[in-house]
Amino acid sequence: MHLKHLEWPFFGDPHRQLATELDAWCAQYLHAGHGADIDAECRSLVKALGEAGWLKHAIAGVALGGAADTIDTRAICLLRETLARYNGLADFAFAMQGLGSGAISLAGTAAQRERYLPRVARGEALAAFALSEPEAGSDVAAMQCSAVEDGDSYVLNGEKTWISNGGIADFYVLFARTGEAPGSRGISAFIVDAGLPGFEIAERIEVIAPHPLARLKFSNCRVAKSQMIGAPGEGFKVAMRTLDVFRTSVAAASLGFARRALQEGLQQARERKMFGATLADLPLTQAKLADMACTVDSSALLVYRAAWQRDQGQNVTREAAMAKLMATEGAQRVIDAAVQLFGGRGVKSGEMVESLYREIRALRIYEGASEVQQLIIGRDLLKSV
Ligand SMILES: Cc1cc2nc3c(=O)[nH]c(=O)nc-3n(C[C@H](O)[C@H](O)[C@H](O)COP(=O)(O)OP(=O)(O)OC[C@H]3O[C@@H](n4cnc5c(N)ncnc54)[C@H](O)[C@@H]3O)c2cc1C
Repeated sequence: MHLKHLEWPFFGDPHRQLATELDAWCAQYLHAGHGADIDAECRSLVKALGEAGWLKHAIAGVALGGAADTIDTRAICLLRETLARYNGLADFAFAMQGLGSGAISLAGTAAQRERYLPRVARGEALAAFALSEPEAGSDVAAMQCSAVEDGDSYVLNGEKTWISNGGIADFYVLFARTGEAPGSRGISAFIVDAGLPGFEIAERIEVIAPHPLARLKFSNCRVAKSQMIGAPGEGFKVAMRTLDVFRTSVAAASLGFARRALQEGLQQARERKMFGATLADLPLTQAKLADMACTVDSSALLVYRAAWQRDQGQNVTREAAMAKLMATEGAQRVIDAAVQLFGGRGVKSGEMVESLYREIRALRIYEGASEVQQLIIGRDLLKSV
């Protein structure tokens, strides 16, 4: 596929090369559609992504097997966009290695980085990010899961839910209330290994686009103090720093889904015969395709503006929120239009546009629902002079 947007000035030549090589790899190795055993498929995708070297971009630290010493947001976004264009589960597998280990890359101690990041980059350890709770989703500060200091450990009690890779992850970066201050200033981040006594997978959750997902339960689960990431009470900051990178990458994945929908829609319009011509010959089809292409390009500009800006060391809270809001909502519209172009086939199980239709939905909800992004943008605008 000709990746025209790679000519944009946001990218350096290594980014262009990365995206082109990944596109070729995906075309050869990734096939759309999931098998029956999602857990096994996810593990095997992580292994394949690790062996091919793509997971090097999910961590920071060349000495630890990473592609660079700092997180390269543009590389992560190009990877997610490309993987999502081919296979939603492959994008998910890559994203969770990055999101689940991001806090360790950004704020972990040398020992934590050495213990976890090389295995993440090789695809040998699966990572997860455990922030949400049954009573604390959008309202993160309402978190109740507690971590109480006791000797050399913290003792965890409470629940986390909607945790991607829950049940198959080897470790979880988990946020719990340590109580240094009220609200978001009393939360700390920990690395919790799977299988610790007192840590159970309470429920596996089935969703419309199958991914490994679970509710976790902690009952007097002891985590060594050395597993805390950053200082006590700084967990919320650690989570937000991680989300500044990965929120933009959710937008990039949406962009990948939207590009695929446009590609499918174009092909269908050209091939479908009707009224003595093709679907593509009808002016209403051309208008629909034009709207889809405008949405795709405007999302791409917002995604790579935010990614570039973060890579320049600038604050991107507003720009990442804009990218996530516009790219996820836009992708939903583009995919819906593609389903419409396919007529009855658009809703048939197993069709690419049908799977994209299910795949995109959760991205408008997780890592901050669209309304949360609107609030972030609005408040930031009102703060500015
Ligand atoms: C497939 C999937 C994977 C996930 N993976 C993870 C994961 O790996 N780790 C993790 O920690 N969490 C994960 N989540 C959880 C996700 O982040 C939460 O679902 C999300 O934050 C919303 O929280 P909630 O579901 O409790 O909805 P609620 O907080 O109850 O929000 C419900 C709705 O209220 C609306 N809303 C929210 N805030 C406002 C507002 N200020 N004004 C007006 N309306 C508002 C929005 O429309 C929102 O969708 C995942 C969720 C899904 C669906």
